[in-house]
Amino acid sequence: MARLVMKFGGTSVADIDRIRNVAQHVKREVDAGHEVAVVVSAMSGKTNELVAWCRAAAPLHDAREYDAVVASGEQVTAGLLAITLEGIGINARSWQGWQLPITTSNAHGSARIEDINGAELIKRFKERKEVAVVSGFQGVHKESGRITTLGRGGSDTSAVAIAAAIKADRCDIYTDVDGVYTTDPRVVPKAQRMDKIAFEEMLELASLGAKVLQVRSVELGMVHKVPIFVRSSFDKPEDIDPHGTPPGTLICDEEDIVEQQVVTGIAFSKDEAQISVRHVPDKPGVAAAIFGPLAEASINVDMIVQNVSADGATTDLTFTVPAADYQRSVDVLGKAKTAIGFDHLDGSQEVAKVSVIGIGMRSHAGVAAEAFKALAARGVNIRAITTSEIKFSVLIDAAYTELAVRTLHSLYGLDK
Ligand code: ASP
Ligand code: MG
Repeated sequence: MARLVMKFGGTSVADIDRIRNVAQHVKREVDAGHEVAVVVSAMSGKTNELVAWCRAAAPLHDAREYDAVVASGEQVTAGLLAITLEGIGINARSWQGWQLPITTSNAHGSARIEDINGAELIKRFKERKEVAVVSGFQGVHKESGRITTLGRGGSDTSAVAIAAAIKADRCDIYTDVDGVYTTDPRVVPKAQRMDKIAFEEMLELASLGAKVLQVRSVELGMVHKVPIFVRSSFDKPEDIDPHGTPPGTLICDEEDIVEQQVVTGIAFSKDEAQISVRHVPDKPGVAAAIFGPLAEASINVDMIVQNVSADGATTDLTFTVPAADYQRSVDVLGKAKTAIGFDHLDGSQEVAKVSVIGIGMRSHAGVAAEAFKALAARGVNIRAITTSEIKFSVLIDAAYTELAVRTLHSLYGLDK
């Protein structure tokens, strides 16, 4: 017997038929003797609709009321799934974030989970063999008692957090793809599903543009050592052997991966914009003068490259921001121009960041050099480069994204 969390995303609970399909997946695990907590998202498209309603009601609305509205999508699916499970003879009860409770910070719209009380769920597993159906994406701020939500895609985080709280053996994320791929299969048809990937690598992949899981959920899995299994809810429940190994990708500890490759995946993001600050004085405090105001404006700066000054007097600084924040960033810096003391700004919104990820880079030299050579051979110009222990990223013209991703995917032997 194992204790499992099963998470189903929006497309997996899109209508009553899909919810029936989910109930069959749950039944399979219950029949195999497992204790199960299910975490559900809102029906696909529902959250977008609720967000649009808030905006239509008032473009500038109270974030507490936004949360009251958008958390409702998950409440509906949790109730519907509990009803459906009961209908096929399985004890089930729905739980809203405030009922467990799942307590969070009060950052409405992007709250962080602080604590989850899993005691009642465990008690009910033991006493009544009851399946818990928990609404993802939501919690409650203890002091104010207000409903909070965890940010878009937050049900993944709810699921892993609940798995940690009830000490589950595994957190299964059922979604519309059957695992994590070496890169986006829409760009590289030869992309391969990985059997296993280390938490650190998945964290990079998710942060760098792969959209399979909310980044925070991977962080939580890593900290609490909850193995996360990404698998398809479109596999027929009756075809799955509950004791076999179904297709999917296990996100786990590095030590649990026997055949570690040097490069495991390639991520890319076109939601980037580049800003270069030209001829800034080369003296202490200048970086702070540039990035301070951007941080105050809640603009998330990503790649930062500063040159070593040639004349000892001025230098250039290049960084990227989310494309949606490009104009705001330019405005913020424009206002701070005298304080920073730069000459002028230039930038581009037509850029993309392509990243190569792999734990093996820690112990292999020359991994990035091969990429630079291959990209040069294809005529892809690199605007900026950043590296960390297990990844490197290049900033290129957006028009070359697909070419660059395909080139690197073949280069590192990821095509099969
Ligand atoms: N329903 C929420 C969203 O669409 C949370 C989730 O699905 O993970 O963002
Ligand atoms: Mg999702």
